[in-house]
Amino acid sequence: MTSALPQDPSRSAGPAIVWFRQDLRLADNPALADAVASGRAIIPLYILHETPDARPLGGASLWWLDKSLTVLGDAIAARGGKLVLRRGDPAHQLREMIAATGASAVYWNRLYDKHAVARDSGIKSDLTADRIEIVSCNGSLLNEPWTVRNGSGEAYRVFTPYWRAARAMVDDVPELPAPGRLPPPRIWPESDALAHWSLHPTTPDWSTGFSDWTPGEAGAATALDRFLTGAISGYGDNRNLPGVEGTSRLSPHLHFGEIGPRQIWRAVHAATVKGAAPDSEADKFLSEIGWREFNHHILFHWPDLPRDNFKPAFDQFTWREDEPGFRAWSRGQTGYPIVDAGMRELWTTGFMHNRVRMIVASFLIKDLMIDWRRGEAWFWDTLLDADIAQNAANWQWVAGSGADASPYFRIFNPVTQGQKFDPKGVYVRRWVPELARLPEDVIHAPWTASPLDLRQAGVALGQTYPAPIVDHAKARDRALAAYAAVRNAA
Ligand code: FAD
Repeated sequence: MTSALPQDPSRSAGPAIVWFRQDLRLADNPALADAVASGRAIIPLYILHETPDARPLGGASLWWLDKSLTVLGDAIAARGGKLVLRRGDPAHQLREMIAATGASAVYWNRLYDKHAVARDSGIKSDLTADRIEIVSCNGSLLNEPWTVRNGSGEAYRVFTPYWRAARAMVDDVPELPAPGRLPPPRIWPESDALAHWSLHPTTPDWSTGFSDWTPGEAGAATALDRFLTGAISGYGDNRNLPGVEGTSRLSPHLHFGEIGPRQIWRAVHAATVKGAAPDSEADKFLSEIGWREFNHHILFHWPDLPRDNFKPAFDQFTWREDEPGFRAWSRGQTGYPIVDAGMRELWTTGFMHNRVRMIVASFLIKDLMIDWRRGEAWFWDTLLDADIAQNAANWQWVAGSGADASPYFRIFNPVTQGQKFDPKGVYVRRWVPELARLPEDVIHAPWTASPLDLRQAGVALGQTYPAPIVDHAKARDRALAAYAAVRNAA
């Protein structure tokens, strides 16, 4: 699991820096466990990466990071340690920390996107040249991207064979317990104060709707436990219903590494053995964890996925410039209730149900013909679970340009999707309250309501709620015509 360079005995007395990144937990954290097992004093470190090449975290992610670092810092303090906070260029910060503390080793759990891979390998070769031991581990995937290969030794491009191979490879490593104590170094290096990073938004504080979330390791464990003793039993069907609490809501916890997929894997298997979770539902749930793995695999092998179409034929597609359309979409004012409900849920809570993510993404890409990259960027800023691999791969999946993607010509109809997955309009009524009193049969298409229904519900189309900004049937034809150019180029 780990890849340690030979240890230099002359330096082994120095403390170990444990560089936390997207692994903000103490239990089942291989880098931390290895560092503690080395017998060295431990300097836990988090660096807010700020260099021109690093993609800055979005606003919602910064909110989560603030809370998660607080929880991690408290857990470390309870074990006799201290979480050191630095911001700037990680290579520079690490050098400074090593000089200040005499550290002889740096431990981290690996990341798989292009910038992190380049940064980490640069740091590794620089520090190794100075006889600092570097130990890197797998803390966030069931299988690392280079380990899963098809019969010809190549990376998979299609999910089903990928997951068949990958799930058979998951090993049975027992959970690594959280260390009971973190031996402190003789000298603590200087640390920033978290409050000075101003990660929590002020003027205005737009995060008040995030209060249902509990960032941190304990919050992640509670979310998993709640899911495994409740919603998992109906997961296969309910996961598609945005008006029902049918999913785990683990994605931000997974992104920040407050829980790892191995912990989930073991807990799901334990629940099936106890009979608490039906096998078929557990399989479906684990296959979603499989999609998360697959997307990391794709990003690693096609590192420009957040920028470039996975299928180059899509480079022929002519996107529209449509600022009013983008604005209406991002503000939840398109006149299509399920789209508007999703975009408002996102803005208010930092989350959006997966089914609705697919519907709103399809609307932006196909009904408005706005470049998927703009949608990806909006999600990057507003999602609490914003993740380079998951976000880019899913946007490209909806666009049709991605690996194993939905075909471009499958264009979601926002009305029939709403009717099918939110049949009583529970979700729309919650997030688009100005439509709450419309009857069930028209709630997903208010323009089809009778004047009497509209009046009784207090809805004045174009005034209290927008008329549709595009006619879906015409928009669909327009998108299919544009897609013909892609098909001809493929
Ligand atoms: P559950 O249904 O409980 O699933 C359990 C876990 O499986 C999730 O936490 C997640 O880690 C994984 N998972 C579930 N669905 C998917 C999927 N479609 N792709 C990859 N992994 C999945 N997810 C992110 O974590 N970050 C993103 O930035 C992100 N952007 C997305 C953008 C679009 C356009 C779409 C359509 C989906 C995106 N997703 C993203 C995937 C998915 O919507 C979320 O992972 C899911 O809604 C999280 O809710 P949950 O934890 O309750 O999921």
